[in-house]
Amino acid sequence: MSKVVIIGAGGVGGVVAHKCAQLADVFHDIVLASRTVSKCDAIAAQLDRPIRTASVDADDVPAMVEFLKAEKPDLLINVALPYQDLHLMDACLEAGVHYMDTANYEPPDDARFEYHWQWAYQDKFKEAGLMALLGCGFDPGVTGIFTAHARKHHFDRIDYLDIIDCNAGDHGQPFATNFNPEINIREVSAKGRYWENGAWQETDPLSVRHVFDFPEGIGEMPMYLMYHEELESLTKHLPEIKRARFWMTFSDNYLKHLEVLENVGMTRIDPVEFNGQEIVPLQFLKALLPDPSSLGPLTKGKTCIGCLIRGEKDGKPRQYYIYNISDHEACYAEVQSQAISYTTGVPAMIGAKMMLEGHWMQPGVWNVEQLDPDPFMADLNKYGLPWVETTPESVSLD
Ligand code: NDP
Repeated sequence: MSKVVIIGAGGVGGVVAHKCAQLADVFHDIVLASRTVSKCDAIAAQLDRPIRTASVDADDVPAMVEFLKAEKPDLLINVALPYQDLHLMDACLEAGVHYMDTANYEPPDDARFEYHWQWAYQDKFKEAGLMALLGCGFDPGVTGIFTAHARKHHFDRIDYLDIIDCNAGDHGQPFATNFNPEINIREVSAKGRYWENGAWQETDPLSVRHVFDFPEGIGEMPMYLMYHEELESLTKHLPEIKRARFWMTFSDNYLKHLEVLENVGMTRIDPVEFNGQEIVPLQFLKALLPDPSSLGPLTKGKTCIGCLIRGEKDGKPRQYYIYNISDHEACYAEVQSQAISYTTGVPAMIGAKMMLEGHWMQPGVWNVEQLDPDPFMADLNKYGLPWVETTPESVSLD
């Protein structure tokens, strides 16, 4: 009998609740808790089986400990915001609850995406006999599992890794982000960074561009080099990798809006004084932009996220591409969310299942690529994110 507490009732929390509720034999008891309980109730009302909801402030550690001690879940699934990660890890340690999330901790006043704050919990989790699974969405998450699968089954050595995230969907809005606007814009407007020959190389934001021909009818789209958090954990856990990069597609329209917003200061994350009160421009912008969960019924088209890998197998060079295609409208029809939330929430559910069923459960703080990819890869095919692997002859991003 397993009980989970899901923290966060945004786009991703909704998908996690749907997918966990579909698997009653694994997730026997589900509590969906977030800051605004009405959002939890709205999600609960969409489900075929009853779950409980609650109002919590994840940043209030003593109150969270009390809540967890009263609920006694086996696992806490954190799909609130990255700012809550450390507070929820602290609460889990004190209440004796396993932990997992989909995004690494970020200090609210500094857009730095680094694992060291969470890796520092290694000894505490080990000593407590508890597991913390980090970054189990799609990217980070499935991209790390794709890489681990490739290394286990197709390569003796991986030299070059390019993670490619394409959203070819269209929501028809002049400007909107597909997940939390604050987190999304902080990520996109940060400097690009990639790993090469044992060191980080930095690029100006969105200054490196390539056109990639995406499969299954998506076709050519421009994509931009960005920093993404799984580059840090993958190059640590697979130190043989000579170069690791992350690419994301953006439409010209998205980039034009972003440029203007940046130029006028609307993406700043430092507080400014306005009419006698302090506001953070990016947080104000978030309040003006469409709520990502409202884009679900409007979004059409596909996503294609995957890994293009070069290396060696049996003494011969090999090139390999593995990806998932998701369709925004199909995701909405199943769980009332577009594909960005879907592709994050399904892996979160599978990660939770891996822990609760014992495939991955072990004390300590873990990134997904450190764990056996096989049962997870099988579940991706089973629960809505089928993958395709190919060995293209000549795809070059150089
Ligand atoms: P949303 O902004 O839609 O939802 C976040 C939810 O967290 C909201 O319900 C919010 O409450 C709640 N929340 C925020 N602060 C607190 C708090 N202090 N206490 C309790 N609840 C709180 O975000 P998304 O659903 O789009 O994203 C969720 C997470 O998933 C983020 O960490 C994001 O970075 C991650 N993500 C990971 C991806 C991956 O592939 N790995 C891809 C996309 C997202 P309220 O409704 O009151 O604001």
